[in-house]
Amino acid sequence: MPVYEYCCPECGLKFELLRPMSQVNEDASCPRCNNGAKRVLSSFAAFSRGAGGESAPVGGGSECSTCSASTCASCH
Ligand SMILES: [Zn+2]
Repeated sequence: MPVYEYCCPECGLKFELLRPMSQVNEDASCPRCNNGAKRVLSSFAAFSRGAGGESAPVGGGSECSTCSASTCASCH
């Protein structure tokens, strides 16, 4: 099963989850506050794609709707 990254809009927690692809677009439950967390399209996901040729810089480009910081560092 692929690993997906989610970010909670309530508490800003960012976490990874193993999910079947059929559930990837569903909200995940935040392990901290139990609110629905949205999936984050991170640079890490690009690695699993392989053939895409994407080489986004690690630590940049991740978007979190709650963080003003582009690196989402406050989520960790
Ligand atoms: Zn949360």
